[in-house]
Amino acid sequence: MPVCAIHPSRQGVPIRCSRTRRLYSIHRRLQGILALLLWAFRNARKCRSFQPYFPGSCSREWNLYLLRGLASFYRLEREAESVSVNTCLSDMSLLAIANLVKGYASEGGERVDVVRIASFSLDAGEQMLLQGESGSGKSTLLNLIAGIVVADSGEIRLGGENMTALSESARDAHRAQSLGYVFQNFNLLDGYSCLENVELGMSFGAGVDRAFAQSLLERVGLKDRENYRPDQLSQGQRQRVAVARALANRPKLVLADEPTGNLDPKNAALSMELIQSLCRENDAALLLVSHDPQIESQFDRVLGLSELNQANGMEAST
Ligand code: ADP
Ligand code: MG
Repeated sequence: MPVCAIHPSRQGVPIRCSRTRRLYSIHRRLQGILALLLWAFRNARKCRSFQPYFPGSCSREWNLYLLRGLASFYRLEREAESVSVNTCLSDMSLLAIANLVKGYASEGGERVDVVRIASFSLDAGEQMLLQGESGSGKSTLLNLIAGIVVADSGEIRLGGENMTALSESARDAHRAQSLGYVFQNFNLLDGYSCLENVELGMSFGAGVDRAFAQSLLERVGLKDRENYRPDQLSQGQRQRVAVARALANRPKLVLADEPTGNLDPKNAALSMELIQSLCRENDAALLLVSHDPQIESQFDRVLGLSELNQANGMEAST
């Protein structure tokens, strides 16, 4: 049975109290608690940073079951917090940034701005390229929009929701439901197949939909590789899995961090074409950051980050 067979719709509709749903919810909680206990047990013994595997005696299927349990547990907690995400926008920008500031303490203890943006917006379905040199704050900006990094001040409105005012778990919920993120280093889980990677992305969002996961992998040309693990794939293939996963929860916005950075020119062009057409097909806006001047011609809207980002710490790094 899929993990999310009876998950409420993504609009935040509460679960109705039928007996089956209560039983299923109890099962998912137990599954999640078991997963948490086993994971804590393993990490206490081995003192490692997060690694989504459980004790060595567990089979891969068990690992997957438990990892999905963690996702279910996380979603149930979120539902209990009544986090409702409004992704329906009509006359507003999909993404709106105002007076956003993020800085870090330098080695000398002095605070250095990395991001200082007065105003920025992106409409639903729009595709935009933000160009910037290495160190100009591209990844920091995407991580701020995704809620992975917390802003010092300012507002980021995504789908009408002020991300900067949300708790960490609410930001996680928002990210899972509204955003797709193609990380520069892909962030795939090596112990799991391509299909499982995409499905695990779904576990934290709207719920597992195997047919859709398979259709995404087919769309990125990896139908015959769905049972391969990422370490059995080329760089370009791994990136395509990351693109499929980014679209797995039917996000309104896809963030892509230097997606052509690790690819040769031919694969870079193919990859760009794929990301852009997949976003169009799925009605997702695209905000792509890159230092690659080759891809400029593929976007209607191109902006230099230096025009947007007035951070004082950027002069030294660019
Ligand atoms: P880009 O993605 O454009 O290469 P980044 O956003 O990764 O740039 O980094 C911009 C600047 O912010 C860099 O000078 C980097 O050293 C600094 N920076 C990023 N993250 C941190 C951090 N966690 N602590 C301190 N400085 C950071
Ligand atoms: Mg970067």
